Parts: sequence; structure tokens; C-alpha cells
Amino acid sequence: MVRGLSRVDIVDIESVECVGDIPIEEFISIARKILAKGGVDEPIVVVDGRVVNTSLCLALKKLGVKRVPISRDGAVRIFIPLEALGFYSDIKPNTMRVFRNSLELLYGNWPTPLVKLERLSLKGIDVWAKLEWYNPFSGSIKDRIAWYMFVQWIERHGPIAKLYEVSSGNTGLALASISAIHGASARIYLPSTAMKAVEVMLRVLGAEVVRSSKELTTDILKDVEMEAIRDSAVMLNQFNNDANFEAHLRYTAKELDLQLREAGIVPRAIVAGTGTSGHLAALALYFKSRYGGYVKVFGVQPAPNNTIPGLRRANTGSKWLNYVDIDDLVDVTLEEAVRGSIEVARNEGLLIGLSSGAVVAGFRKLVESGVVESPGSAILIFPDSGFKYVEVFETYIRNSMKTL
Ligand code: PLP
Repeated sequence: MVRGLSRVDIVDIESVECVGDIPIEEFISIARKILAKGGVDEPIVVVDGRVVNTSLCLALKKLGVKRVPISRDGAVRIFIPLEALGFYSDIKPNTMRVFRNSLELLYGNWPTPLVKLERLSLKGIDVWAKLEWYNPFSGSIKDRIAWYMFVQWIERHGPIAKLYEVSSGNTGLALASISAIHGASARIYLPSTAMKAVEVMLRVLGAEVVRSSKELTTDILKDVEMEAIRDSAVMLNQFNNDANFEAHLRYTAKELDLQLREAGIVPRAIVAGTGTSGHLAALALYFKSRYGGYVKVFGVQPAPNNTIPGLRRANTGSKWLNYVDIDDLVDVTLEEAVRGSIEVARNEGLLIGLSSGAVVAGFRKLVESGVVESPGSAILIFPDSGFKYVEVFETYIRNSMKTL
């Protein structure tokens, strides 16, 4: 332990031994308080070399602080702002863009761009989009969670030799890349609705592909869990693995916060699609805790009987939405999503993916119904680009030449 402490010292979090885990509800409740206060108001108490309030210590670790206040005299009232704890030092842009290896190209290259969509701004609301296809492996937001789930597993259980995962595409691609980097074998189970490009690229990455006759990833999960146990394979399971949500809280939300501060914006609305609910729930927890009710957070889900790759209806078990508040959920059809993508392509020159198009369509509905009020800024999260969805765009362009 650290020697020569005064009543409260700020020390490197790595020098404090807080091991174990906390239930997700408890983590969220502590994180909410820390984010709302913008700092911590009690130290980590260490008695006889042991941490007494382990939950606080673990929560701070998960939030990515680099330093923590500790006391050996018991609990005292203090206030140490997040900045002083190195909370933001996870995000350190590499301006010369030299990377020591391909993994560093992921976490060393954040933040992903935040861009104002000038021609999409409507009714006095400025629209900003976060372009998640700037992540290097799957070209999507899923690189973040694939990497984080993978490294968290290795930290706790050691190397991964064989990995199975169910994915509609992006998580599978990201995990196949990261498995290739780590010399692990990957088998990805795709639903029948997965895009052809995903299947081919998975094979290019050396992954084994099992395509199911079922339409939804959730319909396959249970069987694959059993197969993974039978074959002694690791299944990180993005649908249930809290590292998914934690990666978005620690990186996606935090970096967006820094970018918005740089731009001098407190957003009025954040709009994101929901699949596992990892990024939507983390953004909701972060921004609502940090900035209060001024920031409204909206989820976009496929309308009943519509399939939009990557998205699921929230009532189909989107785990983390059970623990956080969002302001509303908007239904979007596949056709509306395609139109959203085409609108952005033709106005902003950006080829965005279908879930991004759904976010645009959902945002439009929210503005038109007066739910998102002007003036202010809205942030749209664009999870990937349009290239994987060429067969869907082709069908719509061919069938609806006049209207699209
Ligand atoms: N958009 C795309 C293209 C996706 O691949 C996914 C998830 O697979 C999502 C949106 C939904 O993201 P989340 O799982 O964080 O809810």
C-alpha cells in the first residue's frame, strides 16, 4: 500500500487493491451519483491495507478514472472533481496518427468524428452526427465492445483460444478481427437476415460462419450458448455482457461529452438505435446524470414486422434499458430507414448504414411531432456506413426508381 498518507491522498488507482465485481444495478447507481456531482465526495477507505468500500473503488475503475482519493482514517467529506481524477485521460487523440499495432488503431484513434450536418438541420435544430464507421475493424460502433469484452475476459480468465458469438454482422466482424490479432479461432453464428458482405468478410478474416435459418439473433442465442459449453469455447455474448454497456459509458459517451464541450454545446436531444441497447443505455445514463433533464435521449427501434440490421425492438430483451431512463422510443420501418440513408447521401454526401438511416427517420418524426423542441442541438449516432447493405439499397432503388 501507499505509505505516508495524510488524511486524504490522491493515488494511482492501480496501487489500490479493489478486486471483484459489483452487480450492474449497484454500478449504475454509483456511476449516476458520480456523474451527477461531477466528482467524488468521499474517499476510498483503506483499513489494514484493505479497501472497505469496494463498490465505490470498482465503480471508479469501471468509469476509467486514473487516480482515486484514499483515506486511512475512515470516511471524510471531500470533493474531488472528475478532471482531477484523470477521468478524461482515456481519450487522448493521436494527432500524428502513428500506431504501434493494429489494436492501437482502435483505442488510440478515438474520438470518432462528430460532424455537423448542415443540410439536415431543421426547424432551428442543429444536427450533429457521430460517425462510428471510423472504427477500424468492422467499420462500426461494435469494434468498441468487441475489444472491451475481449480484453476484460482475458484480464479475468486468461487467453481465448476458441470463440463463438451470435451477431447480425458488426460484432461478429469486430470479434473476428480481434480474434485474428490474438491468434484465436472465431465461429460466428449469423441469422438468415445477415448481409452477404458480412458473411464473405468474416471468411476473409478467417472466421468460421454458421448461418441459421432463423431471422433474429435472439432466436439463436440459447442454442449457441449450449454449443459453446459443449465445445469449451468462449462466448462473450454481447446481449448479456456488461462490458458492452461499460465500454460505451467509459469511451463512447465520455468522448462525445468532450467533443460537445469543445464545440460549446449541451445537446437538447441524443438519438440512437437500439439492438443490445449497449450504446443507447450508456449515453442515456451518462448525459442525463451529467446534464440533467435538459438532455432528452431517444431510442429508435424497428416497427413491428420490420427488420433493420443491427436493431431490435426494445421489448425483445434489450438488457441495459431496464436500468436507465430514456425519454421515448420511436418506431421506424425499413423503408423509412432506407429513405433516411438516401436523404443523408444526397444532402450530405455520406453513405450511412440502415440503422443510421433509421436514426435519421426517427429524429425527423420526433421533430415533426414537436417532441424535440428548438432551438438547440441534436446528436445522432450513426453506427456504421452503407456499404454492407448494398443488396437492400439495390432492391429499393430498383423497385422504387421514381420515389427514391
Ligand atoms: N446499428 C448497427 C449497424 C449495429 O450493428 C448495431 C448492433 O449490432 C446497432 C445499431 C445497435 O447497437 P447496440 O447493440 O449498442 O444497441
